Amino acid sequence: MALLTFKGGVHPPDHKELSSGIPIKEASSPSRVLIQLSQHIGAPCKCTVQIGQEVKKGDLIGEPTGFVSAPVHTSVSGKVVALMDIPNAMGRMVPAVIIDNNGKEEWTQLRDNPDYMKLSPEELKEKVKDAGIVGMGGATFPTHVKLSPPKEKPIDVVIINGAECEPYLTADHRLMVETPSDIIEGLKILMKVLGVSKGYVGIENNKPDAIEKMKEASSGEANIEVAELEVKYPQGAEKMLIKAIIDREVPAGGLPMDIGVVVQNVGTAVAVFEACRYGKPLIERVVTVTGLGVKNPGNLRARVGTPVRELIEACGGFNNSPAKVILGGPMMGFAQYTIDVPVAKGTSGVLVMSEEEHSTSDKYGPCIRCGSCIDVCPMGLMPSMLSILSEKGFYEETKEYNLLDCFECGTCTYVCPSKRPIVQFVRLSKSLIKR
Ligand code: SF4
Ligand code: SF4
Repeated sequence: MALLTFKGGVHPPDHKELSSGIPIKEASSPSRVLIQLSQHIGAPCKCTVQIGQEVKKGDLIGEPTGFVSAPVHTSVSGKVVALMDIPNAMGRMVPAVIIDNNGKEEWTQLRDNPDYMKLSPEELKEKVKDAGIVGMGGATFPTHVKLSPPKEKPIDVVIINGAECEPYLTADHRLMVETPSDIIEGLKILMKVLGVSKGYVGIENNKPDAIEKMKEASSGEANIEVAELEVKYPQGAEKMLIKAIIDREVPAGGLPMDIGVVVQNVGTAVAVFEACRYGKPLIERVVTVTGLGVKNPGNLRARVGTPVRELIEACGGFNNSPAKVILGGPMMGFAQYTIDVPVAKGTSGVLVMSEEEHSTSDKYGPCIRCGSCIDVCPMGLMPSMLSILSEKGFYEETKEYNLLDCFECGTCTYVCPSKRPIVQFVRLSKSLIKR
């Protein structure tokens, strides 16, 4: 059978072999955590603790200030030592709570509930909301909001995104191999909350072991299917995934819920299960630490708030002098100027690129109108025009070329023979236009 896919896209070398076979390891508990109060799309949280206050692991330290917001909890027990603004992975200053770890690992009171499936959809959704769960693939959209579609937009399908199409990243792959039944339980909870009778897990077929494990884990579930996808970037983008699996198209400017679909990442499904089963808030996640610039690439379960520097050290430190450190994957991630930035709920990877892996060009050329970027754009846009208009300062005009439909996958930039920084131009226009 032909593998499911979408139109456009590219096949960058994936380098997943560096870490895909390495089991998830517990990262050591950091002596100090820096926990951002804004780790999601939406309103930042309001701090609920004071300097000097003692906290237990899982205690609330930031409460939501709007519907599109998610609470933040501490990932260690200890004492609050500072409240200050720190840069996040994108370089924006965000408020954060700094906590010194007392090493006692004292948990706040959690409510274990083996009968979680007997809870009502509203009660399950409340647990997801209270646990501060956000999209862990990197988008960080609060999960309870996705679980609250308006009445006029009924949902009939939930898709778990196990594509993990970004090169290098293997955190979701390892979760599928090591905890497949937790993912299926998470999916079943999501389906119950949304009143949906059909669920899919979409996986690129370069992860045969994950496909096998997920098929095994879902074998008793008649309404859950594992969909094998072609290996292609950006196969894991929501709109591409939906097109590939159920052949529905999200309208321009629309959302998956407009066509009856909710998509959640593999890690998010596990967090949903842990919240409903154990009452556990989202305070840790699996992070792939990889690239030829780090000695022993691997997958670490790391506390939110752990400085990235400590994860790199846990993987043997740098190999010679690295050329670049990126949080996330190489296509959509963000290059860092410091490795003191902490792990957040959306941190899927720490990619340390060596000189040999990294290519850079100070200068880019004019558009030679080769059309390559248009051929590969999964959204059917004209990236060449977007970049030219933005370069010349015609920011408002980019809207006529559907600037806002660009989800910044970087595919166009990857293929451009003139090395034009198309995504950067897109981001510039997005930040300057009047919406
Ligand atoms: S224009 Fe946007 S959506 Fe299209 S390939 Fe470029 S970054 Fe991706
Ligand atoms: S790939 Fe680069 S050079 Fe070719 S059309 Fe697009 S922007 Fe122009």
